[in-house]
Amino acid sequence: MCYCPHRKTLQRIQFVFRGSEMLRATSNITISGEDCGTKVGKVINVNKDNYKHLVGFNLITDDSTVFIKDDDQASQYLGLVVKKRSMMYCVSKGNSFCKTCAGFNLANNPFAASMAAAEYGSAFLSMFLKSMHGKTLATKKLDIQTAIT
Ligand SMILES: [Zn+2]
Repeated sequence: MCYCPHRKTLQRIQFVFRGSEMLRATSNITISGEDCGTKVGKVINVNKDNYKHLVGFNLITDDSTVFIKDDDQASQYLGLVVKKRSMMYCVSKGNSFCKTCAGFNLANNPFAASMAAAEYGSAFLSMFLKSMHGKTLATKKLDIQTAIT
């Protein structure tokens, strides 16, 4: 491990660079088109901790897709296993995802996928910085006789 004084600065630069890489790599991805029609989704066991994450997304049912518009509607799925439409399983052609898989928030901006990816990069940088500033260097006197024996 490198202990040079610039190690932390170099790590910060790496995270910022990775964030900009994510932005660049996703810059030509668009969210357009109404529904790719996929029947594959992210399988979620809905409980009280995650049911609000369904709001603004579409669930796959036996014969259609159901848009979850609020917390009350999402709470109807508590205790059930559902398939949530996700950009991971979108079958749209080219560099685009359909609005149904992307969900309400991302579907309102055709370039939102790139911004969302950049947001993940920022979240990683923020986690890294928080972990760096939350640490303290603690020392303790070592008794060599008890440490070895
Ligand atoms: Zn799709």
